[in-house]
Amino acid sequence: MSPLSFTAALLRWFAQYGRELPWRGIDDPYGIWVSEVILQQTRIDQGRDYWLRFMERFPTVEALAAASEDEVLRLWQGLGYYSRARNMHAAARQIVEAGGFPRTIQGLRALKGVGDYTAAAVGSMAFNLPAAAVDGNVYRVLARHYGIDVPINTTHGKHTFESLATELLPPGQASAFNQAMMDFGATWCTPRSPRCIDCPVAGTCDALHTGRIHLLPVKERKLKVKERHFAYIYIRYKGKTALRRRPAGDIWQGLWEPLFVEDAPLPDLGCPLTLLASGVKHVLTHRVLLADFYLAEPQALPALPEGYIWVEEPALPDYALPRLVERMLDLLPQG
Ligand code: SF4
Repeated sequence: MSPLSFTAALLRWFAQYGRELPWRGIDDPYGIWVSEVILQQTRIDQGRDYWLRFMERFPTVEALAAASEDEVLRLWQGLGYYSRARNMHAAARQIVEAGGFPRTIQGLRALKGVGDYTAAAVGSMAFNLPAAAVDGNVYRVLARHYGIDVPINTTHGKHTFESLATELLPPGQASAFNQAMMDFGATWCTPRSPRCIDCPVAGTCDALHTGRIHLLPVKERKLKVKERHFAYIYIRYKGKTALRRRPAGDIWQGLWEPLFVEDAPLPDLGCPLTLLASGVKHVLTHRVLLADFYLAEPQALPALPEGYIWVEEPALPDYALPRLVERMLDLLPQG
């Protein structure tokens, strides 16, 4: 399906099935903006009532700007994510100070709390600016219809979908098209049970014809950054120190390190431990290490866990050490 016919089909669908919402059909940028902020994390049914109440109490951006933060937050109560209300209040003051609503995407983007999506949504609906508003609904519709499996939560994915959505924008009808995409994604091409049977673009839907509806869109699994807590004890005994080679199956395999403790109590070496540094941060891919460094100077040869060897301190440079251990050595007092 050419971009033009996809767009035309969606616009036809919207004319028939578009949702009736109290902020639809208005061209007041303020009312549209308030609706977009409310709907960022809120279901439409709940958002509708809040919008009506909000607009009744603060019918203009000037009224919102003149209100106290307490009053704005009270009206917002129950919607959660209060930073949205605070940012909106601050942005209302920005707008009033500037003498009116910005009429460019760049100007809208400069308002507190306004990101790419909100700027495009408000810009297109209030001023018919040719900007594609790409939210989760739009990602899903485009990924399925065009069979795009580029992960949507990557920079490449964002660019891919934004440029496709921009290409699809009909000249002079950005407002209707953006709303059509939002509504179509929210009511027809839904995440779990899309209405493919009476879908206006089913004939050209790649996901439908390749059996990938539930595989698209694709999200890259972000590996959670794991935190690990290490403690290293540098033992100094008659000019010698204890090292072990790090075992297989973990980071730094084969490198050498002083007495190592992870998630366990510090061992008793028969002498007090001097803390050299605590919470030293060392960042690796997908891991953050937080390390405490200690110095132990026992009077008698301490018993060590298996695997450690005694090394003459001047010979330390002959051993390959992780960078974190080198940082520890830099903190050692002269022996
Ligand atoms: S055919 Fe189904 S999956 Fe494809 S765009 Fe239509 S509703 Fe979405």
